[in-house]
Amino acid sequence: MKTINIAIDGPSGSGKSTAARNLAEDLGIEYIDTGAMYRAAAYKALRDGVPAEEAAIEKMLENSEIDFSGGRIYLDGADISGEIRALEVSAAASEISKFNSCRSRLVELQRRIAESKSVVMDGRDIGSNVLPDASYKFFITASIEKRAERRWKELQEKGEDATLEAVKEDLKQRDYNDTHRKLNPLIKTKDAVEIITDDINIEEVNELLKSYIKR
Ligand code: C5P
Repeated sequence: MKTINIAIDGPSGSGKSTAARNLAEDLGIEYIDTGAMYRAAAYKALRDGVPAEEAAIEKMLENSEIDFSGGRIYLDGADISGEIRALEVSAAASEISKFNSCRSRLVELQRRIAESKSVVMDGRDIGSNVLPDASYKFFITASIEKRAERRWKELQEKGEDATLEAVKEDLKQRDYNDTHRKLNPLIKTKDAVEIITDDINIEEVNELLKSYIKR
């Protein structure tokens, strides 16, 4: 059977991960959160005191196993799905994702997963670099205010102690890093459908995505 790959890109807090997860569930295919892979690498570096330097991160990744199973992410066999959401892990993920060796290793893993099964994959460079031939491409975005508010609420619900201002600053810095990175920066490809989520809720985003796929 032919595999179907759906690429969803966009900045942090745009609602793309929730949209991607819901779409995958509705279609009965796997959801691959590539941001979680960069976060897993960052989490391990922070935990083990590995400096955010290319050679050190490359060596660390050579001895790391990152897997998805049942919607959870595993690092060297341990479920770290909760730990990777902390604000300090977000910032570190953004830092190390600019390293060539880190990107190429994770991209290789992402392509291998997409070749083996149908997936909805979300990230920053999925439509432009990881899966340029994806069957469908979407770019989901929203204003910085809206995105900061959403991220802040999420962190609050998880009991994370962060101010709205700190969350907004983190998003701004990560937006800058993602769009100014030399290697595979965040861009909307010409063939991607743009969805702006400021004034629509998650169910509406989901319906919109599905309406494009039916077409
Ligand atoms: O999507 P999320 O916010 O979880 O991603 C964490 C970080 O990983 C981002 O700030 C971004 O720098 C990096 N990332 C990336 N390429 C991807 C997905 C995430 O560089 N495909």
